Order: sequence, then structure tokens, then C-alpha cells
Amino acid sequence: MPIRILPVKVAAKIAAGEVVERPASVVKELLENSIDAGAAEIKIEVREGGKRLIRVADNGCGIPADEVELAFARHATSKISGVDDLACIRTLGFRGEALASIAAVTQVTVLTQTADEAVGTLIRVADSCVTHREGRGAPAGTVVTAENLFATMPARRKFLRTDATERRHIDALVTRYAMAYPERRFILTHNGRLTFQTIGSGRLHDVLVKVYGLDVARQMIEVSLSPAGQDGSAAVEVAVQGYIGTPSLHRASRDQITFFVNGRWVQDRMLTQALLQAYHTLLPVGRSPVAVIKIELDPGLVDVNVHPAKSEVKFHDPNAVFRAVQRAVRRTLVDQSPIPQVSSWASPSQREEWERRQALVGAGAEGTRSATQLAMAVQRTAPVADVKGESLPAFELPRHLPPLRVLGQVAQMYVIAEGPEGLYLLDQHAAHERVLYEQMLAQRAAAQVVSQTLLEPLTLELPPELAAVMEAHQSLLAELGFLVEPFGGHTFLVRAVPVILVQERGGDVDLRHALSNVLEEAMAGQQPLEREKEERIIASVCKQAAVKAGQTLSHEEMRELVRQLEATTMPRTCPHGRPTMIHLSRAQLEHEFGRR
Ligand code: ADP
Ligand code: MG
Repeated sequence: MPIRILPVKVAAKIAAGEVVERPASVVKELLENSIDAGAAEIKIEVREGGKRLIRVADNGCGIPADEVELAFARHATSKISGVDDLACIRTLGFRGEALASIAAVTQVTVLTQTADEAVGTLIRVADSCVTHREGRGAPAGTVVTAENLFATMPARRKFLRTDATERRHIDALVTRYAMAYPERRFILTHNGRLTFQTIGSGRLHDVLVKVYGLDVARQMIEVSLSPAGQDGSAAVEVAVQGYIGTPSLHRASRDQITFFVNGRWVQDRMLTQALLQAYHTLLPVGRSPVAVIKIELDPGLVDVNVHPAKSEVKFHDPNAVFRAVQRAVRRTLVDQSPIPQVSSWASPSQREEWERRQALVGAGAEGTRSATQLAMAVQRTAPVADVKGESLPAFELPRHLPPLRVLGQVAQMYVIAEGPEGLYLLDQHAAHERVLYEQMLAQRAAAQVVSQTLLEPLTLELPPELAAVMEAHQSLLAELGFLVEPFGGHTFLVRAVPVILVQERGGDVDLRHALSNVLEEAMAGQQPLEREKEERIIASVCKQAAVKAGQTLSHEEMRELVRQLEATTMPRTCPHGRPTMIHLSRAQLEHEFGRR
């Protein structure tokens, strides 16, 4: 065939393919236009998963009558005017492709009116051609209706999934935009039924309640890092805001991790990685957190013109963004994660009441406090609070651990302790693991892991696989306290090990077993980062060295364990993310015993 230029309509359909993949893509483009138009309220109506109909109605600025047709031309936009503007984009749209693309693959009707027009414009476009135009009165704003997606493209239509699946994509999208713009009202209906609605209060937490439900939203804590709050040396100023789940809230997939960059929903591996690293050792292996994080930075420092669907961005300084996210999330987790409650007993209202009471006391409200409330509050806000209420500190979740008094041991596995806020059960193994882990990390950071020379070197014959790992990691292992020499073939001489392996548990650790485990950890994961590998090895050493379940502890030993756990920075989980303790509050006890 000779080369020829394709007919305009064919070219339009090809180009549209990059922008419109499925109904949710249409919803996305229309929503972005409404947001760019400054709408305070956006109504989204969907029929048959969006295949039949998608209608987005907003009360934004509207399109002037003499520009309506132009809006459908490819590369027609009111948002940028030259190439310089590309370097600093503040709107969601800028490519001028969306309406043109949508009109190439659906039948579009637009009804729009600006605030200063007496009459609005109605226009119908099918297969990229205007088929009808009339003046018609309308409220200020724009209503775009897109019907029969891919009706003229059977090949494309075949790839659409069931209504339910397409609907799920739309739901995910609309809820994301609602979270990104909590100050705007979003109303979503499917087949005439209202399925999602926000009130536009401006508070992200209100939207979280609508998206995730009260129970989950309650387990989310606020993240806030303003650019000024950084260490000053940062070249890029990055603000990080949002909500993250406490470590007890986790999911099997990463679907509930949401990032916005300057108001744009983006899917970005680097950002996800920063978040996951911040949760390192806090979540059970293989689980993912729930998080909604908004990143704001100078639009000149991020390129959004990467893909026609605009769901990817490129940062000029990705490391600075990575660090900002990781630091903000980690700090929030360290400061605020509450100890998990005994869930079958916990009733959310009790926690709320506790918090309300605390707030009351913190605010110094007069007259309403009972003596016991005060006494409890004083205990909790120790060290020395003024009982008169003059300088009681404002309510805060306990930063680290409350002071605990050991009562005894249960099932040779759990330490039972009393604190100001009720009963605590500590998993002795998990708690000890955490203690040793932080001790060893600190030693490592100071490059002084304490190593103990063995009276008699240990001969270790390894399977070929592990022998290779041993060889490859010899120097790292040496830095972590393992002095190992090759002894021909797959045999090695172990001359020294980290002191905790011989000191803890009365020297009862099986060193051969411990070392094989360490080597297996070093091998696990796909090309883990050096630091990650190191932490894994350290965690493995600590796991071997920590007291086991089934070991009887003396009162003194338990007290020492609690004291050491109090000194850690992340006392609430073991390095593998299991909880070190659970909490049964006074309120829960009272509830269980029918005292209220
Ligand atoms: P882009 O958003 O990239 O500019 P679009 O094809 O999505 O391109 O829209 C083209 C133009 O139509 C926009 O630049 C804007 O001026 C106008 N427009 C589209 N939708 C709306 C709307 N809901 N309200 C006001 N103006 C709109
Ligand atoms: Mg647009």
C-alpha cells in the first residue's frame, strides 16, 4: 500500500485511544475539567457502568457561547498558551485533548452557560462532528453528557468489562477526587441510585468517613509536614499532608494507598516505596497500609506532561520527595500509633469518650469534670500535672508506652501488666525481639556491634546455595558481628558471633541454626537494598536471641523487659510487624463487667 494520510475521523479515533481507555477515563477527564472550572459542586451520573451514559454536571465558570465548538478541537485549551507554560502547570488539564477524544468515541452533548450570559448553549457532537446547536437557558456551569461509549468501535467495545467492574473503576476514581478536593461537593449516582456523596466541608477526614466508613476512618491518623518543618538543608520544599492507617489497619493489596501531587491523583512506585519504608517492621509481612497522602510542591519542580492520561509525573528531585514522604509518615507513626485494643472487646464509642474526656480536661473546661475524671487524666498525663487544671497539657495519645507495672506471666508466653489506662498483655518474644532489634540497630549505626569470640570455633558445613550467600556476604556479616572464615569447599569456621546470641537466653541459642536462618534472610527478597538486607539480618539475629514462648520469666526479668521496651522508639510492634502488646482498657473492663 502507498503511504497516505488517514482521514481525520480515523486519526481522531486513534488519538482518542490514548486518552479514553474505559468509562472511568471519560469520568476522569470530565471531572478534571469541572475542577479546573472552579466548580464547588460536581454531580456524576453513570448508567450501565458508564457504557450507556456518563454525565458530569458542575457549577463552574461555564464555556462562553462562541468557544463551545472550539473546545472540541484537538489541542484547544484555555489553560496554557505557550511552551513556557508547560514548565509550570497549575491546572489538571492542559493538553486540550479530552473533549476532542471523548467526542471521537461517544456521542457528546454539552449544555453550558457562563455567569454573565443571558442564555446558554446546547451543542451535540457525534463522531467528531457537530450535529446540533441551539441557545438554551441553563444555570451557570456546564453539563457534559457522553453516551454509548465506543458504539462505532466494536473492537474497542469488546474490551470493556462487566458493568460492575467498570463501575468499580469509576467509584475508585470519584472517591479519589473527592479526597483530593474535600472542599468541593461530589455526588455520584449509578443507574439513578445515589451511591456516594461528600459535603464539601473542606475536611479530608469527613471524606474518609464516606469512603472507608467510620470504623476505618477512626483508625487513621493525620500526617502533616509543612515545608518549613524540614531540616532546612532540603533543596526542594515539599509539603506532605493527609491521613495514614495505624499499623493495625492493613490490607492484602496496595489498592488503598493513594497519592496526590499538587491535586492530581498519581500512581507512582517511588512514592509507594517511601510509604512502605516508613511502615518498615510495623506491618505484618506481605500486608499494605491504608493511606491518603497529598504532596504539594512548586509546580515548576514536577513534570506532569509524561502521558496523555496524565496519571504519571516526574519529579526534578525525586529523592527530596521520597525523603519528605518517608519522614512525615514515619514521624507520625512513631508519635501517634496507639496500642491495639482487644478488638472483640473494644467498642469505638468508648475510645471516643476517653478522648472527649481528655479533650475536656486538656481544654481546662470548668465545672464538668468529676474528681475521678481528673484523677485519671492526671495519671495519664504524668509526670506532674496541676490538679487545679491550670496547666494541664492538651490531650495527646501516649507518645511511647504508659508506665507499666508487671503483674505476672500467662501461659509462659505473655507478660501481664497494669497501666494507668487498664490492662496490658505483652507477647514476651515479640517484645524482646523489638528491644534487641533496636539495641542492635543502634550498635550498628555507631559501627560497634558487639561481637563475642567463641571459645571453640564452630565448623559449619553449608548446602551450596547458602555457602554462596556466605561468601558473598562475608564482610557485611563481619560488620554485624559474625567472624567467619572459609575452610575449604562449603565448610566455614565461625570464630565470633554477635554477643546477644550467646548472652541472651542463658546461651541457649543454637548457633548453627541461627546462622542458617541469617543466611536465608540475606538471600530472601529480590535484590533488596543493602540497608534492607542488613535490617533483615539483624531482625533474624534478634529473633533467634529473643526469649521464646514457653520460657518462664522471673518477676525481675519481666520488669527488665518492660523497662527496656519502654526505652525503644517503636515499642508497639516486633521487627516483623506483629504487635508486642494488646490493651484492655479500663472502660472496656467496666463495660464487660456491666458496670455501665
Ligand atoms: P484541557 O482541559 O486540557 O484544556 P479539554 O479538551 O478537556 O482540554 O477542554 C477544552 C477546554 O474546554 C478547556 O480548556 C476549557 O476551557 C473548556 N472546558 C471543558 N470543560 C469545561 C467545564 N466543565 N467548565 C468550563 N470549561 C470547560
Ligand atoms: Mg480537560
